[in-house]
Amino acid sequence: CGIFGYCSYLKEKSRKEVLEVLCAGLARQEYRGYDSAGLVVDGDKPGQVYFFKEVGKVAGLRKKIAASAIDVDKTLMEQVSIAHTRWATHGPPSERNCHPIPSDPNAEFIIVHNGIVTNNAELRFVLEKRGYKFQTETDTESVAILTKYIFDQHQEKPSFTDLVKAVLKELEGSFAFVFKSAHYPNEVVTARRGSPLLIGVKTDKKLKVDFVDVEIAGQDNSESLIDAPPAGLLSVPNATPKVLRTQSRAFMSEDGLPQPIEFFIASDAAAIIEHTKRVLYLEDDDIAHIAQGELHIHRLRRTEGGEPSPQQQAAT
Ligand code: GLU
Repeated sequence: CGIFGYCSYLKEKSRKEVLEVLCAGLARQEYRGYDSAGLVVDGDKPGQVYFFKEVGKVAGLRKKIAASAIDVDKTLMEQVSIAHTRWATHGPPSERNCHPIPSDPNAEFIIVHNGIVTNNAELRFVLEKRGYKFQTETDTESVAILTKYIFDQHQEKPSFTDLVKAVLKELEGSFAFVFKSAHYPNEVVTARRGSPLLIGVKTDKKLKVDFVDVEIAGQDNSESLIDAPPAGLLSVPNATPKVLRTQSRAFMSEDGLPQPIEFFIASDAAAIIEHTKRVLYLEDDDIAHIAQGELHIHRLRRTEGGEPSPQQQAAT
């Protein structure tokens, strides 16, 4: 199965071109094997999106898109879109279980996921108890709804990265995700643990890489954000003391001016090389945020004892 994401900034793209980039990205990962394919693109009004989902091959998804009535000639100066080929682990292959998976009927949060969330049953139980309605049988939907749940718990809107960080903290298993949201237009957050994920960057300008925002977060013993889980159903992950070090890496043009730029997110470099050879492989527990033509990677570095290792000291 494969993940594909496409973000373009200050670049005039027709919806047709965007759909073509997504379908080609999925088709190039076809060899990974899958049972269904789907994608979501930005709609005509803010917050509006168009989903396409089909059981079977990408060719079938293409047909469905070609037969639809959406305005494919509409040009978008900024857009973020995500796509997925599914290898079902939870719930049979069906249009309903196809990704991208929305958190709710208004699709406030939309995600694609490769892998398995092993504490899905617990998450689903807790969220259903809190009144959330599930539309699919996938483990992925627990994550989509959990994202909305945690977002709704906040008085002040968190950054998209902080929100995803809080979500990932509740998850067990292996995954690569891309998150898109009506609350964070033209942004995506992508993260992995165990499943492959990479980001390609395409721009005509020279880029410089900035390491900023290096901080030691100290012991990560913050409480689970799911309040009062039924006893024994939700474990609190990361209970062992450790030092977390967050590094952000921003890619900016050398002159610092806004520039046309495109980002491609994929499970396999084969899906990206036709666009760019500048590719970054994400590490486990990396959280990458793409917004306003910039990429920031939050990388957690761990040490056992509580003190940063000499290498980590040196890295500052
Ligand atoms: N576990 C998810 C599902 O069954 C994702 C499977 C995949 O990696 O494609 O929908």
